[in-house]
Amino acid sequence: MPTVARSLITRAFALVLSLTPFMAHSAEEIVVYSARTEPLIKPLFDEYAKSSAVKIKFVTAEAGPLLQRLKAEGKNTPADLLITVDAGNLWQAKQEGLLQPVESKVLTDNIPAHLRDPDNQWFGLSIRARTIVYNTKKLKPADLPTYEGLADAKWKGKLCLRTAKKVYNQSLVAMLIAQKGEAEAEKIVKGWVANLAAPVFSNDVQVMDAIAAGQCDVGLVNTYYFGRLITKKPQLPLALFWPNQESTGVHVNISGAGVVKNAKHPKQAQALLEWMSSGKAQEVIAGSNLEFPANPAVKPDPLVAGWGPFKQNTLNVSQAGQLQAAAIKLMDRAGYH
Ligand code: FE
Repeated sequence: MPTVARSLITRAFALVLSLTPFMAHSAEEIVVYSARTEPLIKPLFDEYAKSSAVKIKFVTAEAGPLLQRLKAEGKNTPADLLITVDAGNLWQAKQEGLLQPVESKVLTDNIPAHLRDPDNQWFGLSIRARTIVYNTKKLKPADLPTYEGLADAKWKGKLCLRTAKKVYNQSLVAMLIAQKGEAEAEKIVKGWVANLAAPVFSNDVQVMDAIAAGQCDVGLVNTYYFGRLITKKPQLPLALFWPNQESTGVHVNISGAGVVKNAKHPKQAQALLEWMSSGKAQEVIAGSNLEFPANPAVKPDPLVAGWGPFKQNTLNVSQAGQLQAAAIKLMDRAGYH
């Protein structure tokens, strides 16, 4: 065939493909719904393209709207894989019947048991610790308490927190309930509220800004927000502290993924998920957002590794979902809004 004709045919074929992004896609193309943003997932999928012929199309949105969309689309969904952050959201997706179990030795070997659904419907891919951040001009590590210790009256007027409306805090309180029981957890949360130095903030960065400015001494944040801020402003008098090392361990949460219940290409989705749980993919997933790889065999980014090793809470993160409603009610009763 003459080159010109061949190139015309190729172009016509490419045009047809591009016009039908979500219809009739072949087995060699899968669709990912992702609550992780494009700058975080695009490098990952570009990496996958180096070793797999399967093309990935993706849609990014907040977790809530993505779950709504999956529900509304039902059997007609083009989605094969769901990626989202927070075990609470993954638990919700499973509850609503939007995911399917995946039996995979690769996944159960790579991802520790506490970071995945006990029924294998979702798997953690990166770890974010929600831990204590403090003002290094005012405090030394030896001064710092446990999560429950932050409720002690000696921290009165020294604590800054993000709003209870954020799922990260709901998950943290849900894990407290799981470990301490509801009554004890409520006492702790009331203590936190009594110790607040300022009204709750709308995000973790504002909490750290207030601590750096001396408005408060300590707070609770996700580690990657600290990583991003300290990279931009290394002069800030802030450091992370790992609490509860003698007891329950640091509260961790995950970003993770699961194969969609009505996936048209479950095998390919599983293959992508398995790939994401190991090696280079784990480096990209964790490194791009300064998180810890979920796979303990993979080393974190040097900045993240520099925060030192810590004992994490090994209670299954699905508890964050299971007790989310109870946590929201408890925080409301305790005056944490
Ligand atoms: Fe976040």
